Amino acid sequence: MKKQTRVIIGLLLSVISLCFSILIITDTIPTSPKKPKYIFYFIGDGMGLNHILGTEQYNAEKSGKGGIELLNFSKFPIRNFVTNHSASTLVADSAAAGTALATGCKTTNTYIGIDSENRELRSLTDVASDEGYMVGLVTNVGINHATPSSFYGHTSDRFAFPKLIDDYINSDVAFIAGATLIDAKRVKSATNTKIISTAELAERVRNAGIHLTSNAEEAGNIVGNRVALVEYDKKNKTLPYVLDRKGGEPSLIDYTKAAINYLSNNTKDGFFLMVEGGKLDYASHEQDAVATFLEVNEFAATIDLALAFAKQHPKETLIVVTSDHETGGMSLGYDNYEVRMNMLMGQKASSIELTRIVQDMRAEGKRNWNEYKQVLNDYLGLWSLVPVSKEEEALLRRDFYDIFLKYGPMVSGLYNNSEVLVYDAVRILNRAASIEWTSMLHTGLYTPIFAIGIGEREFIDCRDQTDIPKVIADLMGGEL
Ligand SMILES: [Zn+2]
Repeated sequence: MKKQTRVIIGLLLSVISLCFSILIITDTIPTSPKKPKYIFYFIGDGMGLNHILGTEQYNAEKSGKGGIELLNFSKFPIRNFVTNHSASTLVADSAAAGTALATGCKTTNTYIGIDSENRELRSLTDVASDEGYMVGLVTNVGINHATPSSFYGHTSDRFAFPKLIDDYINSDVAFIAGATLIDAKRVKSATNTKIISTAELAERVRNAGIHLTSNAEEAGNIVGNRVALVEYDKKNKTLPYVLDRKGGEPSLIDYTKAAINYLSNNTKDGFFLMVEGGKLDYASHEQDAVATFLEVNEFAATIDLALAFAKQHPKETLIVVTSDHETGGMSLGYDNYEVRMNMLMGQKASSIELTRIVQDMRAEGKRNWNEYKQVLNDYLGLWSLVPVSKEEEALLRRDFYDIFLKYGPMVSGLYNNSEVLVYDAVRILNRAASIEWTSMLHTGLYTPIFAIGIGEREFIDCRDQTDIPKVIADLMGGEL
């Protein structure tokens, strides 16, 4: 063999062996180490820092240990806090805050999925869909309420409920679950000119070829069709409070399980699932601490489902937990250097359920103070567990007389109205625990963000809530 030929063969062999080495190296490097295949996005509506800490104190008291018992997401490696003001004010409503968490853009209060100049925004649903993820949305309030609709809707009027159902139908949301399809007559609004019933909205969903059912197990097992899991034929516009739930009534946990089943059965390419704890916000608008803490626990239980899923898919899952804004201005510590969670252990019904009980008594013609006093004792623990001062009892008795003299005065909440007697009784109970509320609406307090799993460290730099979806979109490989 000539020397020249030997050199060429030698060179060729080197090139071939180098190619093999590169192939071997390429094969051992993960294709995209930062791209999570399964993304869970949990939004506790109205869940401020004290909602979390209060629940941790309440749980510790209940289990007999006292102190603080950390919730599952409090133990996540990434714990941060973000600002959440809207484009119009320092205190956001759920529409602007939901839009911020879904699109990464600040907007005017009441706006959903559009910026302050009415331009339509891309949401995480769009990015997920473009990047090959299947999308699921779960809530325990209406599927066209502010938070879920921020992930598919576009309107300046958050109460344009029929329009939002049409936006959902035309979206890439494969699985949706919630308490109802909110109709047009519930809230007065400029856009709701025509009365459209929930039954009509359900018909629109069915006509679009979407499988509409109220059976969670059935919904989780559907393959090859879009699904809307909705309790639309029930009178209630939301799922019941955990505190009031009777056996067999559906829960946020049932809905989240169904969503995970459905998404696991219907795609091999990964999914994006948003879960909203919506009743948490309702309970805080009503300034009802126990109802709020039990909703936070329910929310944490849905996060347990995601943690169990992550155990099965350890190198592919990301779990993000946050909140849209704080509701109620809840303070832990009011009249002394203490919080007395033991005072709350006798509460057996929410202020809304108790309002219903008092109204039933009124309708039955019951006019004896002792009967009403007994109900406040039975359902809140007043007098037996919770000391009631002479002044407080005088206030409750005045409220009781007003029921008959003033035909049942009500305290107007954002979503529900409480009987004044019940509102004052729950306030006395909360103060006995040294818990006070400063607002019946939202506040602009910092909100938390927690993360665990693939890409978790990217959330360390989040300063405002709009940064969160931007990081998620980036991890998906797309852009908002
Ligand atoms: Zn909200």
